[in-house]
Amino acid sequence: MPNIFQLRKLSTELALSKVKLVAVSKTYPINDIQMVYDSGHKIFGENKVQEMLQKSTLLPTDIEWHLIGHLQSNKVKYIAPFVHLIHSVDNLKLLHEINKQGQKNNRIINCLLQIKITPELTKTGFELGNFEQLVKNEALLTLPYVRICGLMGMASFSKDKILVAQEFAELKKLFDRLKAGYFTNTPYFSELSMGMSGDYTLAISQGSTMVRIGSLIFGNR
Ligand SMILES: *Cc1c(COP(=O)(O)O)cnc(C)c1O
Repeated sequence: MPNIFQLRKLSTELALSKVKLVAVSKTYPINDIQMVYDSGHKIFGENKVQEMLQKSTLLPTDIEWHLIGHLQSNKVKYIAPFVHLIHSVDNLKLLHEINKQGQKNNRIINCLLQIKITPELTKTGFELGNFEQLVKNEALLTLPYVRICGLMGMASFSKDKILVAQEFAELKKLFDRLKAGYFTNTPYFSELSMGMSGDYTLAISQGSTMVRIGSLIFGNR
């Protein structure tokens, strides 16, 4: 059962810092998501294409669906018609496929580029070190059916607050450099998706504009 009281508290807290909340509903049943929706929240995140597709057909059509998990290029076509924001673009082939599917559906698809900010091998993303070079060399900004709205990152799964804050700070620095260097005329490059149930306060203190929170709202998986 979702904790609606916790959700309200969190929403108020985030609204004060102008941070957006993506309620991460992966693994939770339709009824739980409906309860959260009925309380007034309409932004949900899923990490698997199949699960997002299924849920989106059963739930109200004004939900904003965010894909937050690793996305295989051959699955982009399933979500291209309706996805609101893909947080997890972690390679160029994928970005080009999103552009192609955007064109087919005649819609511009909002994307965040996921950056690897932790040495943990389970997390994917563009390498932090050579990312600016890549932006310089590739015509990322000219893909007509892709809108790059910002960056996303996941910190180490660690109790070490200093380490986690440092990782978030690195991502914020990269975001600021990119904005100043390549996205000066693109006001929509404005989102920094970082922070989950366990580390969102740290992420906000380092400049997050969007947090992805599951278990704190829906309960333990
Ligand atoms: C599951 C997940 C979250 C939310 O995790 P919680 O600890 O439940 O808040 C956030 N981001 C991504 C990419 C996830 O896969």
